Amino acid sequence: MIPRAQLPLRCWAEIDLAALERNLRRIRAALPVHMRYVAVVKADAYGHGLHQVAARLMHAGADLFAVATLAEAAALRELGPGWPILLLSPLVPDEDEYIPRYDVAVTVSSLDEVHRFDRAGSHAKRPIDVHLKIDTGMGRSGVWHTAATAVYQAIHDAAHLRLVGIYTHYASPDDDPAFTSEQRQRFRRALASFGELDTTHLLIHADNSAGLETIERAGPFNAVRVGLLQFGISPRRGSLLDDVLPEPVFSFRTRVGLVKHLPAGTSISYGQTYRLTQDSRVAILTAGYGDGITRSLSNRGEVLIGGQRCRVLGRVTMDQTIVDVTHLEAVASGDEVVLIGRQGDAEIKVVEFSAWAESIPWETLCSVTKRVPRLYRTSLGI
Ligand SMILES: *Cc1c(COP(=O)(O)O)cnc(C)c1O
Repeated sequence: MIPRAQLPLRCWAEIDLAALERNLRRIRAALPVHMRYVAVVKADAYGHGLHQVAARLMHAGADLFAVATLAEAAALRELGPGWPILLLSPLVPDEDEYIPRYDVAVTVSSLDEVHRFDRAGSHAKRPIDVHLKIDTGMGRSGVWHTAATAVYQAIHDAAHLRLVGIYTHYASPDDDPAFTSEQRQRFRRALASFGELDTTHLLIHADNSAGLETIERAGPFNAVRVGLLQFGISPRRGSLLDDVLPEPVFSFRTRVGLVKHLPAGTSISYGQTYRLTQDSRVAILTAGYGDGITRSLSNRGEVLIGGQRCRVLGRVTMDQTIVDVTHLEAVASGDEVVLIGRQGDAEIKVVEFSAWAESIPWETLCSVTKRVPRLYRTSLGI
């Protein structure tokens, strides 16, 4: 068969890899020089594409990568041996044998895991790198902070484990500084209970993107785990983050499929949840919730066409979305529509899209579906 030329685009995401690299460099420049940069690239690099994002971050100088699953670790490992990879989530026991195969550092939260991973290291005849995770108030993975010493000791005593990191995770770094500070205290107390720590070969880390707002420049911390911020989205305004001012990396675009006039009184889309109050012109977009325009944008979201905002009318459907274009001078089938990103002087940010969806930027980025091709922009253009 003769390969067909690539079909025209109906709905796509653009990933600006040069902006990603600039963001990493800016974040680094705002941090103390000794801080190691752990690039969090779980969930397909927050929907941006693991291979492309990780390759660019390697080039830009990330020190280590964090992922959620063994499959993600395996995909990263393909990019090259040697890059340290940290698995953040707990493993199920039948996954243990793959830890040495992919040469990944795992998170330890319990004595049971110490014994399991030690056995896996013994079978593979090579030590397994571990980060001890301490639960200081997140209630997710990690050993509860007052019980951490026993697990620390057990890691030390295990013949096939090598402790390479100790970390915790904050529950509300973006909106509860008092609790975050309490979590820091608990973490420090747990560290102190371990006695003298040689941090030259040990990563001590706590801060994610939002944590960077209140990061301690002194003290035992020597690494940060950055996810959202490197993709150009600040969880909230804060001193460090204001200085950094990351650039958006992701944009989400579709096109006008059809333009038509409808008389006042016409109801729009499933369930007739919207009724036109005047004679109107509407545009039918070539994307719907099957692409990631979540249904909660029905009757409340907006898009950009010709640099102007247009309201979503009625319910978003699987493959098509209807918007009001009565106020636009010119609009035609084929026109580009911005769901997230810039067009002319106008911009819809991930944060605004997420608010319409009653969601958060992390979830919005993970909600753009497999049907949507990702196009990678470099400084030379797409
Ligand atoms: C996802 C995750 C991060 C990254 O968080 P951002 O808010 O995206 O920077 C850091 N640490 C852990 C444990 C995570 O699960």
